[in-house]
Amino acid sequence: MTLRELQALERAHVVPAYARQPVQFVRGAGARLWDVDGAEYLDFQTGLAVTSLGHSHPAVVEAIRDQAARLLHVGNLFYSEPAMQLARRLSESSLGGKVHFANSGTEAVEAALKLARKAKPAGTIVSLQRGFHGRTYGSLSATPQESKQAPFAPLVPGFAAVAPTAQAVAEAVDERTAAVLLEPVQGESGVWVLDDELLRAARAACDEHGAALIFDEVQCGLGRTGTLWAYEDSGVVPDVMTSAKALANGLPIGALICSPRLADVFAPGDHGSTFAGGPVACAAALAVLEVIDDSELLASVRALGARLAAGLAALPGVVDVRGRGLMLACDFEIGPHPPAPQLVRRALLEQRLVLNATGPATLRLLPPLTIGEAEVDEALQRLRALL
Ligand SMILES: *Cc1c(COP(=O)(O)O)cnc(C)c1O
Repeated sequence: MTLRELQALERAHVVPAYARQPVQFVRGAGARLWDVDGAEYLDFQTGLAVTSLGHSHPAVVEAIRDQAARLLHVGNLFYSEPAMQLARRLSESSLGGKVHFANSGTEAVEAALKLARKAKPAGTIVSLQRGFHGRTYGSLSATPQESKQAPFAPLVPGFAAVAPTAQAVAEAVDERTAAVLLEPVQGESGVWVLDDELLRAARAACDEHGAALIFDEVQCGLGRTGTLWAYEDSGVVPDVMTSAKALANGLPIGALICSPRLADVFAPGDHGSTFAGGPVACAAALAVLEVIDDSELLASVRALGARLAAGLAALPGVVDVRGRGLMLACDFEIGPHPPAPQLVRRALLEQRLVLNATGPATLRLLPPLTIGEAEVDEALQRLRALL
């Protein structure tokens, strides 16, 4: 079908919850995408930090094909090997406790919130301004953005949001607090690396008051910042962590990972999901971890991230570059340049560079972790042509 035909179908039959770009992608390989007319694009958005190994990574494709041909679904009332293997791999690579599977980021966060509340009944949840945790009610209640929350009030009770500073977090936590939920590197708000002092203050406050420290690594985890898990960089270890987005490189999956102290809070019947931990998604995730949990790849993410950040800082009109590894954002001056959404559209249609905007003057770059220097330089060249 042509793009025009798809747009007509959307107008007639699709709930208008998304603002789509006028492009129909039909194929991808590595950092490249091709549209229905055969035009080639450079993908520095990766479906929002999902296809971190690039499109059609052969190891992921093979794992999916192989598992799909044998067994698609049995549900959580039986054993299947990929889920058990993946749980071991996730816990051994991080907090050393146990894992509970979900189908998305927001569901992993819901599981974390329910776990924290069960561990401390009726406890409150403290989250941070600029944070993003998802669109279901619990996650949304921890996502303090007026535009996202207001139409859906009333939200879940017992949530408080504070400024992302060490002092504000320390003051907000008391004996009623069940959990502090934060992203070590905040993604949706335009890539803000939380400082180590804040993370240490959150850790200390949670320890003092018996609250769970939950790191939402749905976007910043899995090598994105140049370490397998973003928390490694700060040395502050959470009690609970959520993962999703890049975990199966495009198949829906989410995971809650907890430390040994909280590993047995959920009992049979407390929480669950029909599709979670399905063999195909878990097989794909095992293939992903095999590639990402590699010191050479992670070193390359750090080196390419530094190269991309330096290149962005040198672009005309760029006033700030933020982030870590290959999770970067840059602010530019509006006036000489059009607002970010327009710039993103021109980057896509004129420069064939896929990226996104997180604010009126902020571009976010989330390229595949498997790119090379040549692709970083090519993206910078296209941005220079645009600016
Ligand atoms: C994207 C995101 C979520 C929500 O994930 P979904 O899979 O869209 O539900 C939660 N937390 C963070 C940090 C995210 O970036």
